[in-house]
Amino acid sequence: MRRLGFWGREFIYPERPGVPDCAYYMRTGSCGYGTKCRYNHPRDRIPTAKMQNEEGKNMDLYIPRKCSATNRLITAKDHASVQINIGHLDENGVYTGQFTTFALCGFIRAQGDADSAVDRLWQKKKTEVRQQ
Ligand SMILES: [Zn+2]
Repeated sequence: MRRLGFWGREFIYPERPGVPDCAYYMRTGSCGYGTKCRYNHPRDRIPTAKMQNEEGKNMDLYIPRKCSATNRLITAKDHASVQINIGHLDENGVYTGQFTTFALCGFIRAQGDADSAVDRLWQKKKTEVRQQ
């Protein structure tokens, strides 16, 4: 008789209905945490090649950003691109927790225009978000 050992393929991972699926188990069919894993390991797992994040959301969709100043597409290989969050302040000058995001492509930075671009973008944006 074959023993169903800890290291065997018959090892049963914990099934926890109502708990998010174990991303690693869903992808590979095994889980290093074994019975101690706090995520769900459905026995009828359908192997997927889809990349998922911790929450199990599909992360296959890559949506490139656009440069806020030039509207150029910021490609994956644009390693000189930056993204800046400008914090919003209340009337006392205290950070409200909100911010405006600007993405700048490497091209505009190479031209030395990023500083004036941010200034221009913020001058336009600040009335929209009621900042002085
Ligand atoms: Zn697991």
